[in-house]
Amino acid sequence: MQPKVLIERQELENTVRRLAAQINKDYREKKPVLIAVLKGAFIFLADLVRHLDLKLEVEFVCLSSYGQSRESKGEVKLVQGLCSNIRNRDVIIIEDIIDTGITTDFLLNYLNQQEPSSIRICVLISKPSRRKVPIIINYLGFEVADRFIVGYGLDWDENFRHLPELYSIEDE
Ligand code: 5GP
Repeated sequence: MQPKVLIERQELENTVRRLAAQINKDYREKKPVLIAVLKGAFIFLADLVRHLDLKLEVEFVCLSSYGQSRESKGEVKLVQGLCSNIRNRDVIIIEDIIDTGITTDFLLNYLNQQEPSSIRICVLISKPSRRKVPIIINYLGFEVADRFIVGYGLDWDENFRHLPELYSIEDE
């Protein structure tokens, strides 16, 4: 199994800048809380926030991942919840990939229980053909076909996260 470059560095950077420009415009007068989903969103978040010209806060949640499997088991676990109060706050979820949508749906339910004043979703990659739960994405990086993607924070069994570009893994 050989990772093949899917999205190069320059295109990633242009996309992160485009998303940041949209968020800068929409949250000019606000102080959003960016909630990044670990582990996959850590590089995307780090690049994105450095293009945000806003007052903001950063929080993390950790949700269970696929482990060694490439398929979601459809069962999401909250490994680590929020450390701060988001009641009456404007929340932006920062996600690596929305695939079936099950993880994001779980996260929306968890966050909504804490009564934020708004929640929007910013995601680097969406795989719409795989969706099982409809999700409204407010800030979208790329739409890709049904492929398994690694690099730029995304792993396969904890490997490949450090790769600077996005790669697809294809069976030989
Ligand atoms: P969902 O619940 O939408 O099916 O899956 C969401 C999570 O599954 C993502 O946050 C990510 O951790 C993992 N995931 C889904 N598709 C991929 C993929 O192509 N590559 C990697 N590395 N993880 C994925």
